[in-house]
Amino acid sequence: MTQTTQPAGPDPTPATDPEVWDAVVVGAGPGGLTTAAYLAANGKKVLVLEANQVVGGSTQTFRRAGNKFEFDVGTHYVGECGPGGRMQTTLSGLALTERITWLRQRPEGHCQIMIPGTTVQTPTGWDTYLERLVAAFPDEESGLRRCVGIMRGIATNQVRWKRPFDLLRWGMRPITTLMDACGLSADAQAVILAENGDYTWPPHRTPAAFHAGFLDHYLQAGAYYPRGGGQMIGAHLTDVIQSYGGRVRTKTRVEKILVEDRRAVGVRVRGGEEIRSEVVVSAADFKRTWAELVGEEHLTRRLRKRLADLEMTLPMFAVYVALDVDLRERGTPPLAWVWPTNDVDGYYREVAAGRCPDKMPVGISCPTAKDPEGTHSAPPGFSTLELVSWAPKEHAFWNVTTDPGDGDGYGRDERYRQLKEELTQRVLDTAELMIPDIRERLVFCEASTPITQERFTLTTDGNCYGIAPLLKNLGPFRPRVRTHIPGLFLAGNSTQNLFGINATMWGGMRTAGEVLGRDLEQEVKDGAVFVDEARLTEITDDFDPLLASKPGSVIRRAARRRPTTSVV
Ligand SMILES: Cc1cc2nc3c(=O)[nH]c(=O)nc-3n(C[C@H](O)[C@H](O)[C@H](O)COP(=O)(O)OP(=O)(O)OC[C@H]3O[C@@H](n4cnc5c(N)ncnc54)[C@H](O)[C@@H]3O)c2cc1C
Repeated sequence: MTQTTQPAGPDPTPATDPEVWDAVVVGAGPGGLTTAAYLAANGKKVLVLEANQVVGGSTQTFRRAGNKFEFDVGTHYVGECGPGGRMQTTLSGLALTERITWLRQRPEGHCQIMIPGTTVQTPTGWDTYLERLVAAFPDEESGLRRCVGIMRGIATNQVRWKRPFDLLRWGMRPITTLMDACGLSADAQAVILAENGDYTWPPHRTPAAFHAGFLDHYLQAGAYYPRGGGQMIGAHLTDVIQSYGGRVRTKTRVEKILVEDRRAVGVRVRGGEEIRSEVVVSAADFKRTWAELVGEEHLTRRLRKRLADLEMTLPMFAVYVALDVDLRERGTPPLAWVWPTNDVDGYYREVAAGRCPDKMPVGISCPTAKDPEGTHSAPPGFSTLELVSWAPKEHAFWNVTTDPGDGDGYGRDERYRQLKEELTQRVLDTAELMIPDIRERLVFCEASTPITQERFTLTTDGNCYGIAPLLKNLGPFRPRVRTHIPGLFLAGNSTQNLFGINATMWGGMRTAGEVLGRDLEQEVKDGAVFVDEARLTEITDDFDPLLASKPGSVIRRAARRRPTTSVV
């Protein structure tokens, strides 16, 4: 008989193990946790160290109003999660496909794009995408055919052979140059660019190939949301790690990656404790990993130069609201991008210059509509919404002088609070274009700034997607997961495997493969499953992913462990 109601959550207490760990992973976001899960499942003794009190990184959730409402920080919609998609590959090697399941969002149009005067639903499939754009802008049919044809050719292998020169001719030039060359109007351009808040970078500095690849991520097979919310990811990956002899320790900030004789040998955490390991994987922010954790003295001249002018994607400003109405009854789209202007590039130019325009674009995500059976989002009759926009990153803009990672002292500053309130009202103004009575139905409202994001994920200036998608940071120029320091590997947003939830998890599997010297991706595609599901904690109806992701949670461990061997 099993007594388990929840898997054992991570542990905040110091590791007492005197021996050397096989691998220490810095950061429990989707990248770090997936790396650790694959390493643990392949017999390595793994320790994950996380600064925050809950695992998940940007996929974490939080609850408010006495646990009445739950919000996702950064799990809004994810592509390539259907049968045969990369997400299924990543999860199948860990026997997690039945535990982390994905809900397909409105196949007929997963995201509503609104610019002044035009509304378009993003569909699945490039053909339908083109049809919808032509229907919205019939006078621009030939330009749209050309532009979409080139983007599709660049993004998909399927038709690349037909247009072998498009990648060279257009792919590396800015997406705005391609659209201008196709003669597209400002409105048509705005619709094509509207979802670029999913990577927060100015269009005039974004290679066409990158934007095309981004569109393809969702056009391939639509958009998905994890059943039960984003915290399911962190909770189940943690369970794999701990069920396979690893440890996940929260409230433990790594301050130094120890390098001796030019080799990574472990880490030092805040408070001075040193932990030795054969391998260190940093899934923390790329810039801070090198500049702070490793340190100047261990960098190559090339890396030092790269860091000196490295640009990160822009950070987000988010407003979390609950409404006393079930938006599903009105048929409100669960996902949308609303632009109060058609000048997408202009908006970015302002924000990049440290100013926040009066009219802010807003990405709208409604967990209660994406996952109607989700038990934690909101009680019946209510809706939760995450409204995301982006805002200047400069600490001076926010009047912050302390290190956000050291706590929320900045939150008491009058100017900071005032700005937060002003920007909240601007975000609600834009959201009103889609939900006119949002203010009347509002029963809860809280905002998070780039400073908040920096505080909880320790990213440079609170960025959400790692290094900027400039040509010099893409393809062969993107940081490899194997570094110049033997024993030190990277995972997460800024690596060769790109950013976003799907990419960082898939990338985590590949980082683990690099550590093990094996092609894990191919092994999994060939059918390998490294985890015996019977060895994982039994999931009962009262399973709470947030509880399972926090230290000190319940936790009577399963008495049902059967002796097993992992299946390869
Ligand atoms: C507002 C927002 C919206 C988003 N929307 C989407 C979306 O809809 N779809 C999508 O696919 N992606 C989305 N993303 C992006 C996605 O969440 C990220 O790409 C993903 O979480 C990155 O994973 P990661 O493991 O690289 O890093 P993170 O998730 O940032 O996790 C890094 C972890 O490392 C920890 N850490 C850092 N430094 C240290 C240290 N020194 N010591 C110990 N721990 C440390 C941090 O506390 C954090 O927990 C969004 C992100 C945000 C913020």
